[in-house]
Amino acid sequence: MPPGEFTDVRMKGFGERAAVSEVLAVLQGRTAPQSSQWHSVGQAAGHVLAKLIASSIDVPAFARAAMDGYAVHAADTSPALPLTVIGEAMPGRPFPGVVATRQAVRIATGAPFPTGADALLQAEFARLESDGEHVTAAQAVPVGKHIVRVGEDVPKGQTVLHAGRRLRPQDVALLASIGVAEVCVHRRPSVAILVTGNELRSPGATPDGYHIVDSNSPMLAAFIERDGGECLPVKYLPDNYATVRAGILAAIEVADVVLVSGGTSVGTEDHAPRVAAELGELAFHGIAIRPAGPMGIAFMPVPGSAITDHTRSHIVTFLLPGNPVSCLCAYDLIAGRVVRRLSGRSWELPYPTRRVQAGAKLPSALGRTDYVRVRLEDGKAVPLATGGASNLSGAVAADGFVLIEPERESIEPGEHVEVSLYDLP
Ligand code: AMP
Ligand code: MG
Repeated sequence: MPPGEFTDVRMKGFGERAAVSEVLAVLQGRTAPQSSQWHSVGQAAGHVLAKLIASSIDVPAFARAAMDGYAVHAADTSPALPLTVIGEAMPGRPFPGVVATRQAVRIATGAPFPTGADALLQAEFARLESDGEHVTAAQAVPVGKHIVRVGEDVPKGQTVLHAGRRLRPQDVALLASIGVAEVCVHRRPSVAILVTGNELRSPGATPDGYHIVDSNSPMLAAFIERDGGECLPVKYLPDNYATVRAGILAAIEVADVVLVSGGTSVGTEDHAPRVAAELGELAFHGIAIRPAGPMGIAFMPVPGSAITDHTRSHIVTFLLPGNPVSCLCAYDLIAGRVVRRLSGRSWELPYPTRRVQAGAKLPSALGRTDYVRVRLEDGKAVPLATGGASNLSGAVAADGFVLIEPERESIEPGEHVEVSLYDLP
């Protein structure tokens, strides 16, 4: 909806709600991974690579021992001949000479493999004479045995990681091993959480009187972390037009994504949609999804002072309903995709899925997407009875959820459904 065309739905109700598929198509079309920045390898895990990385060196750069033992000539181990130990090779301290036939060099794992020798006799199969200067193989060893070849781990020139890779701990280890000091990764989006609601106390407070504790911000902060975003300090906004407006204005100065919790619906205290429509483009207000129907999505102009990233033409602002399960649904099915996309991650939901039978009727309605929390009982999906949008306990007891498409009225027992699992069982 362009500025000026805001329809105030307060105390009237939503007329038409946008389909989830339409909302996702618009968001996908209007967002992109953020620009890149250089990060030291030690700080890069969890970030998403913006450029492929090829190795400029062979790893290992020299042939080395894979075991403790003796560097020998394979031919001297079958038939086994007594070999003269002429020195040793240690990691970082090579044996300076050449190993001739009937000679052996004591060698430690990781040490440069000495010139002349062609096999490694494992310590376990070496019989050291009492003079300490002669060794005999108790087992024949073939040529090349237990020697790590040059470039065996990573050959020079090989692509080790592609753009789009979310760096795992072992990835940064490999990058360090090929001598990379810094990597080019997507900037993590900074995400502002604005919590509206006069009734709210910050987490840690004891609920008293008619006050309740804000449970949305700790949940959103955890989601943002999971999705590769960086959470800005949570701001609490009383329910009045001026503070909500000032809060959103301040947030778009510093954030790449803004999440407003609460005050998004049709009550007299629901100011966020009007503010969003005045300051930017309220593209959606009211989405055909249960339990996140009152959700809104706005594209806010990037303030002049905040243009640091030219991949952005606007700051996506999500108006998340305050009911905790609605907030969960709105973030996880819609807003989270944008946070992941900005950080360079996948647009898809980050849950493993499993195809199972419905163990009971899964309620839904035509024309909207239903987010049904389910438990797996005897391998079948059963909806949680405590399913209300304000009942967090149902979402906590659930093993996962089923999304029921708008074309379906409900799912009958015995039908197959795809469950997205919050965790792998
Ligand atoms: P609202 O979306 O602001 O109309 O809020 C809907 C319901 O969710 C009300 O019962 C609020 O008290 C509750 N609520 C709003 N924000 C939060 C929050 N941050 N944490 C827990 N409950 C909330
Ligand atoms: Mg409220």
